[in-house]
Amino acid sequence: MDTQSQVLERLRSAFSSGVTIPEEFRRTQLTKLMSMLKENEEQILKALHKDFSKPKFEAVVSEIDIVINELHYAIDNFTTWMKPEYVSKNLATKLDTCFVRREPLGVVLIIGPWNYPLQLLMLPLVGAIAAGNCVVLKPSEVSPAIDNLIAELVPKYLSQDCFAVIQGGAEETKALLKNRFDHIFYTGSQIVARSVLQAASVHLTPVTLELGGKCPCLLYGRVDIPAAARRLVWAKFFNAGQSCVAPDYVLCTAATRDALLPEVRQVLEDFYGKDPQTCPDLCRIVSPRHWTRLMELLGKSSGKVVIGGESNQEEKYIAPTVLVDVSEDDALMQEEIFGPILPILTAETLEEGIRFTNRQEKPLALYVFSEESSIVNTVLENTQSGGFCSNDGIIHMTLPTLPFGGIGSSGCGSYHGRWGFETFSHRRACMLRGWGLERLNGLRYPPYTENKLSWLRWTASPKSCSLM
Ligand code: NAD
Repeated sequence: MDTQSQVLERLRSAFSSGVTIPEEFRRTQLTKLMSMLKENEEQILKALHKDFSKPKFEAVVSEIDIVINELHYAIDNFTTWMKPEYVSKNLATKLDTCFVRREPLGVVLIIGPWNYPLQLLMLPLVGAIAAGNCVVLKPSEVSPAIDNLIAELVPKYLSQDCFAVIQGGAEETKALLKNRFDHIFYTGSQIVARSVLQAASVHLTPVTLELGGKCPCLLYGRVDIPAAARRLVWAKFFNAGQSCVAPDYVLCTAATRDALLPEVRQVLEDFYGKDPQTCPDLCRIVSPRHWTRLMELLGKSSGKVVIGGESNQEEKYIAPTVLVDVSEDDALMQEEIFGPILPILTAETLEEGIRFTNRQEKPLALYVFSEESSIVNTVLENTQSGGFCSNDGIIHMTLPTLPFGGIGSSGCGSYHGRWGFETFSHRRACMLRGWGLERLNGLRYPPYTENKLSWLRWTASPKSCSLM
C-alpha cells in the first residue's frame, strides 16, 4: 500500500499535469461518482446498517439521493460556473478585459465525520471535482463498514491519479495534516477543528470548517401544535438525533410546552411504535463511547424525563427521550447533545427566548415554529446562525441553491451546489491590458502634479464607470 506521501506525490503530479482542468474530465469524474452510488446502493445501505443500524429509508434520503441530486445539479451547471465573470470597469481600465477566473486550488483534503459518513465526504467532493481539484478523502474510523467501502469503491470509479482515500483515526489524520494541502475541508467537532486549524496554520492553508453546536428551536405565538410536533420529532430523531442540524433544544412558554408534550408523545408512538427499541426505523448510537457519553449526560441532568429514558447498552440503544424543567446551566445545555435526547426549556416571552438564544454560541441552524410571520421575522432579524428555517427542521440544507455552513463556533465557509464549487475555486482577478490610452496612463507617472492628481482621481472613480 502506498504511504501518505506517495499518495500525495501522485496527486500533486497529476494536478500539475493539468489533467483535471478540462471540463470533460470533470464531467466524466462526476458521472462516474454517480455510477458508483447507483451501482453500489445495496452495499452502501448494508454498510450503513452495519455501522449504526441506519434505516434504509433514512440512508437513501440522506446519504445517497442527496448526493445524486447534488451531482445532477453540478453536472447541469458547472460549465456555467466555470465561465469567466466579466466585471464593470472605470475610465482608467476602459480598454482592458477584466474578469474573474475560477481556478482549481490544487490538492485538497476532505475530512469527514461518522454521522452521515457518505454524504459528508461526497457532497464536498462534488464541489471539489467540479472545480477541477485533486482530492484526498479521509473518512471517519468511527463508522468502519462504510469507511472501508468508500476506500474500496472510490479507486474503482474515480481516477486514481487524482483522487485517493486515506483511512485512519486521530493519529493518521494528524500525520496527514502535517502535509501541505491547498485547502482543508473539515466536518466534525469543534474540539478537533482547533487542531485542524493549528495544523493548517503551519502551511497557511485555507480551511472550511463545518462544525456543530446547539441548534435551538423556538416555538412562539400561535403554533399548529400537531404539525409542529410531527416536524420537530422527525428532525430531532432522524438518525437518532445524530445530526449537526438536529434541533438540540426547544424553547417556548410553559403553556406551549404543556400543549406540545402530549402531541410529541403521540407522534413518537405513531412514528416508532409503543416500544421504539423494536422499531427498525430508529437508528442506533454509533459506538459504545458515544452511547456512554449520552447516558452520562442524561445522568448528570437535573431535568425531569417525561418521555422515554430507556436504554440498552449492548444494542447501543437510547429511546427517544424528552426532558422538561431543564435550566440554562444544566449538563444538557453545556455541550451539543448529538443524540435522541430533547430538553424543553421555557422562556415566557419571545424577547426572553431570543435573549436566551443569543447568550449561546452562534448555532449551525436556528428554527422557529409560529403561524405568525411577524414572530418568524423577529427571530430572523434578531439572531445569528449558519442557516435558518421556519416551521420545520433540517429541510433547508437539502436545497443545493442555498449555502450550507456555520458562523462563529459552528464553522466557517460553506458548500452545496455552486457554493461548493466556489469553496474549492480560487477567484483569480484578471486584467488583460492593451497598449492603448497611454496618455491616460501618463496621469500616474511622475513628475506628480495637482492637475494630474485631480484627473487621475476622476478616471479611477466609480463615477467614470457610467461612461462605459
Ligand atoms: P470528530 O471531530 O471526532 O471527527 C471528524 C474527523 O476528524 C474524523 O475523520 C476523525 O478521524 C478525525 N479526527 C478525530 N480526532 C482527530 C484529531 N485529534 N486530529 C485530527 N483529526 C481527527 O467528529 P465526529 O464525532 O465524527 O462528528 C460529530 C461532530 O461533527 C458533531 O459536533 C457534529 O455537529 C459535527 N458535524 C458537523 C456537520 C456540519 O456539516 N456542520 C455535519 C456533521 C457533523
